[in-house]
Amino acid sequence: MQQPIIVAGGGIGGLAAALALAQKGLAVTVLERAERLQEIGAGIQLGPNAFHVFDRLKIGNAARAIAVYIDQLRLMDALSGEEITHVDLTERFRQRFGNPYAVVHRGDLHGIFIGACEAEPTITVRTGCEVVGYEQDGSSVTAILKSGERITGRVLIGADGLKSKIRQQMVDDGAPRIAGHTTYRSVIPTEQMPEDLRWNAATLWAGAKCHLVHYPLSGWKVFNLAITCANDPAEAFAARSVTHEEVLAGFRDVHPRAQAIIHHGRDWKAWVICDRDPIERWTDGRVALLGDAAHPTLQYFAQGACMALEDAVCLAEKLSDRTDIAQTLDDYRQARLLRTARVQLQSRELGDHVYHPAGAHALLRNQLMRDMTLEKFCDNLDWLYGKQSLELSMAS
Ligand SMILES: Cc1cc2nc3c(=O)[nH]c(=O)nc-3n(C[C@H](O)[C@H](O)[C@H](O)COP(=O)(O)OP(=O)(O)OC[C@H]3O[C@@H](n4cnc5c(N)ncnc54)[C@H](O)[C@@H]3O)c2cc1C
Repeated sequence: MQQPIIVAGGGIGGLAAALALAQKGLAVTVLERAERLQEIGAGIQLGPNAFHVFDRLKIGNAARAIAVYIDQLRLMDALSGEEITHVDLTERFRQRFGNPYAVVHRGDLHGIFIGACEAEPTITVRTGCEVVGYEQDGSSVTAILKSGERITGRVLIGADGLKSKIRQQMVDDGAPRIAGHTTYRSVIPTEQMPEDLRWNAATLWAGAKCHLVHYPLSGWKVFNLAITCANDPAEAFAARSVTHEEVLAGFRDVHPRAQAIIHHGRDWKAWVICDRDPIERWTDGRVALLGDAAHPTLQYFAQGACMALEDAVCLAEKLSDRTDIAQTLDDYRQARLLRTARVQLQSRELGDHVYHPAGAHALLRNQLMRDMTLEKFCDNLDWLYGKQSLELSMAS
């Protein structure tokens, strides 16, 4: 029997890769560090490009069934409490890109991938397996686990996230860059959301050095809150429980309408936001990086998970019909490099110029955003959301 492809990491990127590879007839072993497969209990926005991928993976209908199709991206001024503008995401947008813009609960999405992977007889998922490094020779690669166990395969995919051990060995470029922002997340029952703000929209309240995002989730049972402030944290951490007072401290200057939303948050968890500069090295012989391990990005384009999904189908396309593994992985890297680098760099720009500006910079943002017609918005994002642009990038 052919040796399996080993995937380190069972997050959205790792499971999508396992599914895509299995659908090409390849055997896959997923090694996940956690004792069970899980995702954080928060929402995620998905552009039409994510749905193009779901269709390729034959889970498009399942994904549509758990999604809330939002009607608008709405931009509010968090200081004045006024709407700046909104972009309509209904029929014209959906027709233009052939798929919706939607929001889903991460756990629900991850659950679809777990179910689809369980249904593939060639996928083995092992939990409680932390990969700490790898060794390779000309004909195979071995993942080394923290326990000392060694698992040998044909290819090793590092889908082990922001603090990837595979990347550490391959690239050795230190810790991720702390962006200077802390994001606080909470999910609140819909009936506790102020009634006049229960919009079917991904709403961004842009303040000076802080912002709030909310949208409905899980069939409108809850609202997802993700609020961020530029408070220059000294050290990186993830999913740390914080008090309500600690959260409020960064949002004292926002309008009472925006503050009212924060007051309803419960069980806040905080993440120090990190990314990295784009790099060219994602492969080493039979080893390749995927998702956040390869190109961690700030969340301001809402595209990190979407890029991991795209990586997965591109990797499977390239690996399915080729035998020169190192060359094939390099083809995958080349196909994905510029698109993901663009997302990384433009996410930073969006943070600086849309989410967090103050004073005259914010006034200019308001004017430019008001001038944005739906056509202009769609034209600007065709490279990202368009089905053809995605196909072209994979083919290159
Ligand atoms: C606040 C915030 C909001 C976001 N919003 C959006 C959004 O709206 N839309 C969007 O597309 N993206 C969004 N993202 C980005 C998105 O969450 C990530 O890009 C995505 O989760 C990356 O998936 P991944 O599978 O590459 O990595 P991860 O989700 O980090 O998964 C990595 C997996 O590997 C496991 N692992 C780690 N180390 C090891 C090891 N050594 N051995 C074995 N297993 C290991 C982990 O336990 C985990 O299961 C957001 C991010 C943040 C922080």
